[in-house]
Amino acid sequence: MNTAEIQALNDACIINTYGARKLAIARGEGATLWDADGREYLDCFAGIAVCNLGHCHPAVTEAIRDQAGKLLHVSNLYYIEQQARLAQLLSQHCFAQKWFFCNGGAEANEAAIKITRRYWAQKGTPKPHIVTADQSFHGRTMATITATGQPKYHQGFEPMVPGFRYVPFNDLAALEAAITPEVGAVMLEPIQGEGGVRMPADGYLRAVRELCDARGILLIFDEVQTGLGRTGPLFAHQDFGIQPDIMTLAKGLANGVPIGAMGCTDEVAQGFSPGAHACTFGGNPLSCAAALATLETLTGPGFLDRAKAVGNSFMDQLKALAAEHPQIVEVRGKGLMIGVEFKEPVAPLITRMIESGIICGPAGPNVLRFLPPLIVTEEQMARVVSVLAACLGELGW
Ligand SMILES: *Cc1c(COP(=O)(O)O)cnc(C)c1O
Repeated sequence: MNTAEIQALNDACIINTYGARKLAIARGEGATLWDADGREYLDCFAGIAVCNLGHCHPAVTEAIRDQAGKLLHVSNLYYIEQQARLAQLLSQHCFAQKWFFCNGGAEANEAAIKITRRYWAQKGTPKPHIVTADQSFHGRTMATITATGQPKYHQGFEPMVPGFRYVPFNDLAALEAAITPEVGAVMLEPIQGEGGVRMPADGYLRAVRELCDARGILLIFDEVQTGLGRTGPLFAHQDFGIQPDIMTLAKGLANGVPIGAMGCTDEVAQGFSPGAHACTFGGNPLSCAAALATLETLTGPGFLDRAKAVGNSFMDQLKALAAEHPQIVEVRGKGLMIGVEFKEPVAPLITRMIESGIICGPAGPNVLRFLPPLIVTEEQMARVVSVLAACLGELGW
């Protein structure tokens, strides 16, 4: 089918939650995508920070093929070797000692919210409230849209789930005031993604950790977007010299096979006992085999350092470009999670970029966001900068 045929079929039978889409992608390899009409693109969005190893990475493809020929699914009524090995490997690379697997980011955050509430309930000191940040994004289930500090995601879905309160990101005094005795946790993205690629202020995350310790409550990091090498280290919090009590992962964990994970300390893991939580597909052999191959590749020698260097040089070039274009308010981000804020909506710019063969996307109305696969080269990203410069020229920005 060509793009027009796919669009017509889509519009006839898909519920319109995504609006008009520009492309129908048919094939990918590395950082290159081809649409249904055969046009080629350089992918700078990686399926929203999912395909961190690029499309159809041979190690992941091989793991999927191999596992698909052995066993796809058995449910968590039985032990699953790939699931246990994935948990072990994840634990070798971060603070979390215990894991729960599910199918995506919202489910991982649901698990984090539920284990937090149950942890405090079991201790006999219920603290069901959770503080999150304005402009945050935590998913689309009822509890996770409630956790999401953006009213536009709540509209029409009221009543919200009780027990959430919001503070401005980077405002420590507001957080301090929000932590009353019924608050059991603070939940943050270490770098806000969907809300506009917003960086934590210097010292903010460390101060949040100290505040949580002082008040004896839990810190949850939603690393669904920032995790798996996206910002430089394997997990974003590792560059800030602190650890949360709970961390959630999804997007990049299996390079495109659906999976989510909630990891926590041994202490917090006590919050869930048999029967407390479950997920039919969670941690199934296929998704875990893909995640194992992904994680082994990401943590291979030099992989993350190389991606970080490409990100740094891309960032430098964008900053130089910003100096020549008054429409650019700020270039920010870390590693290969980069946002360019403009004075006006970026939709026309994204359209021009795609027409010029570069796939990128927004983060809120005025921020152009780049989330390329971590395997992109300096040459590819230099091409992105020159295409961007040309598109800005065409728009008179
Ligand atoms: C994408 C995202 C989610 C939601 O993940 P889904 O897999 O779409 O449910 C949650 N938190 C953050 C930070 C995200 O970027």
